[in-house]
Order: sequence, then C-alpha cells, then structure tokens
Amino acid sequence: SDSKSSLIWFNGEHVPEHQATVSVLSHALHYGTSVFEGIRAYKTHKGTAVFRLQDHIQRLFDSAKIYRLKQPYTQEQVEEAIRENLRVNGFESAYIRPLIFAGNVGLGVGSAQGKNCEVMVASMQWGAYLGEEALEQGIDVCVSSWNRVAPNTLPSGAKAGGNYLSSQLINEESHRHGYAEGLALDVNGLLSEGSGENVFLVKKGKLYTPPLSAGILPGITRDTIAHLAKRLDLEVVEQNIAREALYLADEVFMCGTAAEITPVRSVDRQQVGAGKCGPVTKQLQTAFFGLFNGETEDSEGWLDFI
Ligand code: PMP
Repeated sequence: SDSKSSLIWFNGEHVPEHQATVSVLSHALHYGTSVFEGIRAYKTHKGTAVFRLQDHIQRLFDSAKIYRLKQPYTQEQVEEAIRENLRVNGFESAYIRPLIFAGNVGLGVGSAQGKNCEVMVASMQWGAYLGEEALEQGIDVCVSSWNRVAPNTLPSGAKAGGNYLSSQLINEESHRHGYAEGLALDVNGLLSEGSGENVFLVKKGKLYTPPLSAGILPGITRDTIAHLAKRLDLEVVEQNIAREALYLADEVFMCGTAAEITPVRSVDRQQVGAGKCGPVTKQLQTAFFGLFNGETEDSEGWLDFI
C-alpha cells in the first residue's frame, strides 16, 4: 500500500499526508479509542464506483455509537468526503480508510467522553490483500492458538482499532508458522473468523458461516456473498461450526473488503477438498467480480459512482 503522494481528508479538508498530523498524546494512541472502515472503489465498465459505501458508513457510525464516540459530521458528509477524496486523488480504483479517533483530549481514560473526535479519510492503491495468486490458487491457513474476543469483553460488532490487537496476534502467529493467515475460534471453541476476514465452508453444495454470536465482525462482503448465493440458488446456513468441519469441508473460503473472496486450500496442513479453488467458490468469485465488469446486475444498488 502507498498513501505517500495522496491527499488525505482530515477534519473537513483534503491535505497532503505530512499535514494530516496528530499529537503523540492522542487518546487513541494510548487507549485504542478509534473506529474505522475498509472500503474498496472499483474501476467498473461505467466508471469508478465505491462498493456499498452507505453500508460501510452505517457500520462506521454504528461502531462510533457503540463506543459513544462523538464527531461533527453526518453520514452523508463522510460519504461525500470519500467520493471527493477519490476525485481529488484521481484514483480509478482504491482502498479507502475512514477513521474516527479521539485526539489530544487529555490522558484520563474517560477524557474522550462527550468530546468531538477527529475524522479522516485516506485512499490508496492496494491490490489483492492476500496476493493475486491467492485468489486463484487458494491459501494455506491454520487455526490460531488465540481465540477471538468474548462478546462481553470487546464487542466484535464494532470495527474498533483495539480489536486489531487480537487480529495481529492471530495473523503474526500464522505467518511465524508458515501460513498465509490464521482462523480463530471463539471463546466457546467454535469457529469465528480470520484476522481480517470472515469465513465460509461449502459442504454438499450448501454454504455455512458462523453467526454474529461467534465473535465475528458482521462483514459486508459476507453479506454480499449471502445475497449472491441466493441469486445462484445456493443455500446459506448461519450456524455454529466446529473446528473439525474445516477439515471435512468440500471448500473453504475467506472473504472481506481487502481479501475479496480468497479460497483456502488447506487448514492446519490438511488439504481442503481438491486443494484448490472449488467450483462454488469460483461461482461466487465470478458473480462478485461480475458486479464490477457488468456481468452481474447491480440489482441492490451497491455501486456508488463518484
Ligand atoms: N472480520 C474482520 C476482523 C475484519 O477486519 C474484516 C475486514 N473489514 C472482515 C471480517 C470482513 O468485513 P468486510 O467484508 O466488511 O470488509
């Protein structure tokens, strides 16, 4: 990723990155007081479109509401800031990172309460998160020794900066052991999600994915896949999934804004299905990327043209 040359929208203005600076006493830096989004804009057959912009900004504002973080902008203003930031940077496709965080409001743990947060939007060029080859060949993943957060410890439904300490433990451990990514179990030992992706299993033509109660982020790509599956007459079952189901699945794939739809070819060095991108995963990938090349009808109005 490279954001060096791009303009960043910071508290209402598009400024060069070196001007978008914060205090070392920023509350967020010390206590993790931040919520954010990861959004993609695609170059489509009809021009650049942000994918499910309103849904991402709704989740951003929901995350802020959960933590009672105040900030001065409306959802529409943040959405327009994003479109504008892509235009001023001249990006045809991009990864977009809006962030709401508590700045230098004092070092008391409660100092951010009732005060306005800082708001920024950065855009950058960013290719396939787990590599272009991963999208075709699939990746090798492990089940992490780290569990996801308990639902009454940190709410996984909020996309908060602090949650990504858990993600870093899962991701770093997987890399150290030679895997591309880690899958975590929840506090009950049931399948949860990856460090930055939701997960689906395919068994006998049906799709299975863990429920929100398994400590997952309710992913927008996960929701997109549920919609696309329905159109393809594929059943999606949201239910608790035991670890061993990963080894016995016909197909496993991970999904997220950054990871898009990435097949999993092995889990804990056990080959999954044929050890490559399976037919259902391929069908969903084609339907997903078809939204941007015009082969899949945008019947839900997910494309937000800039
Ligand atoms: N889970 C976690 C922990 C994530 O960070 C992400 C990426 N935002 C996802 C799931 C997938 O969510 P989405 O499809 O909305 O990007």
